[in-house]
Amino acid sequence: MAKLVILGSSNALSSKDSENTHMVLVGEERIVMIDCVNNPIHRLEQAGVDFLDVTDLVLTHFHPDHVSGVPLLLMDMWLRGRTKLITIYGLHYTLDRMEKLMGMYSWESWPKFFPVAFHRLPETEKTPLFECSEFKVISSPVRHLIPTIALRFNFKASQKALAYSCDTEPCVEVVRLAEGADVLIHEASGASLGHSSASQAGQVAAQAEVSKLYLIHYPTGEFANGNLIAEARQHYQGEVDLATDFLTLDFS
Ligand SMILES: [Zn+2]
Repeated sequence: MAKLVILGSSNALSSKDSENTHMVLVGEERIVMIDCVNNPIHRLEQAGVDFLDVTDLVLTHFHPDHVSGVPLLLMDMWLRGRTKLITIYGLHYTLDRMEKLMGMYSWESWPKFFPVAFHRLPETEKTPLFECSEFKVISSPVRHLIPTIALRFNFKASQKALAYSCDTEPCVEVVRLAEGADVLIHEASGASLGHSSASQAGQVAAQAEVSKLYLIHYPTGEFANGNLIAEARQHYQGEVDLATDFLTLDFS
């Protein structure tokens, strides 16, 4: 079993039915959260995942709409008596700040805290994060307002691949990382500094020759606008859909 569950699909201005963008990859052996916002425990529970079972946490960049839930996740794991390790992956920029933030909460004084390993990643293309029996994870730097990574998962049994752009302007790094993937999840906040429109996401999907494009991190609720799928289709002939909260993609 290897499935991705979208826990949130909205840009930074989340709405009642659309949480900030974050997701979880559920395997037999590893459960990997990709970003962690607000109180992630309830969303995980709704997705059928016990938050205590999360083994790995990848932080794409240090903006509140991607990392605001980390202190509470760690605190609640501690309160529930977790003893096993969690590994947190991210760029130096991201993890230095996350450690400082936890220091502001004086977490060193919380007795018997479980082990947390910070795995710092270089800002180089196609950096391996880790590999398990089911999949391999790699990251590449992208072009956002602060240092940010995109991710790719290669699934061994199915030979499928999933790429996620995270927050970025259209860039060759995402094209190269997503090349030939079965699924590309690309942000569609709108064309602005450090972000992409749905139309630009379509261009990236076409250049990377992926089989399916999901748009994510788009304006939701009262800020929803335009027909994002139609915009992406102007440039991309493959299947296009919106990633919505609790959408589940199977890569088994
Ligand atoms: Zn964001």
